[in-house]
Amino acid sequence: MIQLIRGFKDILPGEVELWQHIEKTARDLFEAFGFKEIRIPIMERTELFARSIGEDTDIVEKEMYTFPDRKGDLLTLRPEATASVVRAYIQHKLYSQDPVQKFCVVGPMFRRERPQKGRYRQFYQIDAEVFGSASPYVDALLVQLLDTLMKRLGVTDVTAHINSLGCPACRPAYREALGTYLSERREALCADCERRRERNPLRVLDCKVPACREAVAEAPALSDYFCEDCRTHFQTVQTCLTDQNVAFTIDPKLVRGLDYYTRTIFEIQTSALGAQSAVAGGGRYDGLVKMLGGPDTPATGFAIGFDRLAEIVAANRGDYTLAPQLFIAALGQACRARTYGWSCELGRAGIRVEMDFSDRSLKSMMKRANRMNAAHVLIVGPQELDNQTAVLRNMQTKVQDEIPFDGLVDSLKDKLR
Ligand code: ATP
Ligand code: MG
Repeated sequence: MIQLIRGFKDILPGEVELWQHIEKTARDLFEAFGFKEIRIPIMERTELFARSIGEDTDIVEKEMYTFPDRKGDLLTLRPEATASVVRAYIQHKLYSQDPVQKFCVVGPMFRRERPQKGRYRQFYQIDAEVFGSASPYVDALLVQLLDTLMKRLGVTDVTAHINSLGCPACRPAYREALGTYLSERREALCADCERRRERNPLRVLDCKVPACREAVAEAPALSDYFCEDCRTHFQTVQTCLTDQNVAFTIDPKLVRGLDYYTRTIFEIQTSALGAQSAVAGGGRYDGLVKMLGGPDTPATGFAIGFDRLAEIVAANRGDYTLAPQLFIAALGQACRARTYGWSCELGRAGIRVEMDFSDRSLKSMMKRANRMNAAHVLIVGPQELDNQTAVLRNMQTKVQDEIPFDGLVDSLKDKLR
């Protein structure tokens, strides 16, 4: 038997209803805040991700599914959505339509990491991006949206962690100070961090290796290097969050794994998923649109890990499966012929209806209806056919009613709605 690829998964009926519920809750919320859906391709030129995410990041260094197609073009299965949304924004000159635009993306992403709980090679993200505003209100709005979504989904075991990475005006001085600090502790660093130390020292702050964590414990704080604008910006984000009752923690060691961030970054973290603590992450990326060839456009966004969110919500909630409202048990060909049209009409009227087309006995049909959790069963056997009257059994109360064939569909529509 051919099995699915390691790190990939099927989302089966029973679980998929939960995914639909989460997606709908997110879409309703984003819609109210003016986000428009954008559907981007699954593949892009490798160069797009290499340039935007950054050559020195985990994603580009070792996680991308990259391959030459039959003509030798180097393509990559998207590991995240932001780069493609920015590409589309520039390519279609969306900036000429309105100075501020909000987009959302829902779909699969691909990263070749070590599969484990909460970490897959094909995983899903719910993504939101805002282009054209440098305002701290937008940063705060995005964190607030995440907080609201978690509350609507009944997720309580989460905290918003926020930090600011400064801007091109103030970050270089910090980078240098951190570089000096780290060069004095080279021996303590893991091999990855030793490499990051010169190329992207901020990422050492985020390393999960205990020795590295210890080495950076006393590292200089970026907040001491903020320029005036970065300081006010971050302060305003915090004020907005507090005013909107969004609980948050300032996490000076939060840096996030992508190169394109500036100023505010944030993560929604949970303790419910073992080692995989991040349910969502995002931040401001004011330089990216210009870097990819578009006009100088400030931007900010986030991505929610759909799989991780679904795991947390599933732990908190029961069954989302929709059971049939009516199961039609027709006994024999003549009864099937008489009832088939009813099942079509009821289905078209929006009633969840199931019909058994087999020659199973009444007993085994009732068993099937029971297993499906059907609310009612409509029984039509030879005797009912003679009497031109069906039997409607309420599966919960076990009460049986007789329903004349004449006007049956209309009376069922009334009863079952
Ligand atoms: P992590 O630190 O867990 O590797 P990340 O910083 O690489 O996360 P992002 O690129 O910020 O992740 O993606 C946003 C969200 O997507 C994450 O917070 C996480 O919930 C989810 N995510 C990332 N990688 C995976 C994966 N391999 N499987 C499932 N979900 C993932
Ligand atoms: Mg990662």
